[in-house]
Amino acid sequence: MKKILFLGIILLFASCKPQGNTIAVTDGLLIENITIITSDSQGKITSAIGNVISDGAVIVAVTDSKAPVKGKFRKIDGTGKYLIPGLIDSHVHLNNIAGLNYPLRQTHPLLVEEYFKRLPKNFLYYGYTTLIDVDNYAPGTIDRLKNIPIGPQIYTCGRKIRVMDDFEMSMNELPTNQKLKLPFLHDKYNESISYPDTVNLNQHTPEVLVKRIASRGNICVKTLYEDATSGLPMGWELPSKEITIEVVQFAHKEGLCVVMHAPSYDGQRFALENGVDIIAHAMWNWTSDPEKFLDTDLPMTHEALVMEIAEKGIGYQPTFRTILGEMDILEDRLLENPQLSKLYSEAYMDFLKSENGQWGRNMILGRPKFLAKVNPSFFHPIRNSFETDEQLFDALYDSYKIKIETVVRLLSENDGNLLFGTDNGAMNMYTHVPGLNGYLEMNHWVDAGVALKQLFKAATYNNAKSFHLLDSLGSIEVGKKANLLVLDSNPLKSIKAYNDIQTIVLEGMPINRNELSVKK
Ligand SMILES: [Zn+2]
Repeated sequence: MKKILFLGIILLFASCKPQGNTIAVTDGLLIENITIITSDSQGKITSAIGNVISDGAVIVAVTDSKAPVKGKFRKIDGTGKYLIPGLIDSHVHLNNIAGLNYPLRQTHPLLVEEYFKRLPKNFLYYGYTTLIDVDNYAPGTIDRLKNIPIGPQIYTCGRKIRVMDDFEMSMNELPTNQKLKLPFLHDKYNESISYPDTVNLNQHTPEVLVKRIASRGNICVKTLYEDATSGLPMGWELPSKEITIEVVQFAHKEGLCVVMHAPSYDGQRFALENGVDIIAHAMWNWTSDPEKFLDTDLPMTHEALVMEIAEKGIGYQPTFRTILGEMDILEDRLLENPQLSKLYSEAYMDFLKSENGQWGRNMILGRPKFLAKVNPSFFHPIRNSFETDEQLFDALYDSYKIKIETVVRLLSENDGNLLFGTDNGAMNMYTHVPGLNGYLEMNHWVDAGVALKQLFKAATYNNAKSFHLLDSLGSIEVGKKANLLVLDSNPLKSIKAYNDIQTIVLEGMPINRNELSVKK
């Protein structure tokens, strides 16, 4: 983290006269006369002009009047500018590549290298100084990313905990020998699952799995509840209530929070009732009744559930980009975004525009046929009410979007514990451009009616609090990490402020935003 990457910032070897309140630093940064926007220890947002001083990676003073500083420090004049904590994206998949599926990764090693080289810079370019990878299935990649000198701080949940023959194992049609090699959870309460005698089930209990996750430095446990309301025929196992309660208990014992992938009504009720701390994904699957599959009037049962989630303060990651990223592919508009040339090389862009690069689009376009094939009784009535698959698609995605917006708006109106996350890398879709994806996600929140204050809090304080990182992150306070953003405009007034970043301060080191882009 020592390579200095700043421009236009004055390096001072100050000789301030020591005074009563003089702050002595050895590797300091003074940000002067800036509007500091932060949450206080109770989570209340405050906004006032002041000064922030860091030494090394830590904030050592926040003052409202000019503070004399002595020692070696740099200075940023913040006049007319805004200072906020570095942003936290609490739902990313860092080993997934936006634009390259697994076969393409094998045939395009240079693009893979280029993508990972840009990844930390792209996140920083949009102000993300902390990332939480919710399913650390490729620790080698995560370790390599952590070792890149200039990049966001990375936290991880352990590898996802799932029961034998769960949704993903069944979708991927894994052969038995491969399934048994996974760290699957033995759900002793589900008698319909059987295992060969050779398997030592003692190695697959909630206690063993959670302890292993904790011992590897992860900060959370990720689980999964995916049911038939997605339109797929339910041919997989769901975790039982009892085993989920045990997972939660052991996770809490280890100080870890539990994140559950649960984009459906039943899944979110299950999460709420069994002590899960954080629900991943807005409720975009509402019913398994094909007649009502595209309905977007929020049923009273669903409304009551969302209200309960808000009231109990369960963390909620809407991740609009999971669905709206796919919509961008269908509408084929993202590649024209001028911001991309700041984030990707020409070679990477050329690939995304090439026929090979369009695999994601083709996969999504093939989905109606796929669903009609795997679940004809469910999908035929829906498909039959449209003349073309294109019309069906428009209706399907529009309904997803409205459902997500409805639920998120209700949560925000009821002061729910919204957590900012993008699902970056989901399905390796090219529309999840690291960094830019966060800015797009923010715009979706605002379009849905979330207040800028709530968005700000979701990407800073709420994420830090829900993932037990509040001691070091989430606000601008003495003793916390000096991960800060200097903005040219006010993020409580306009969403554009999040693309108006002048300087990213990473553990006390100021980086001019332009230095992070491909084209300087
Ligand atoms: Zn995800």
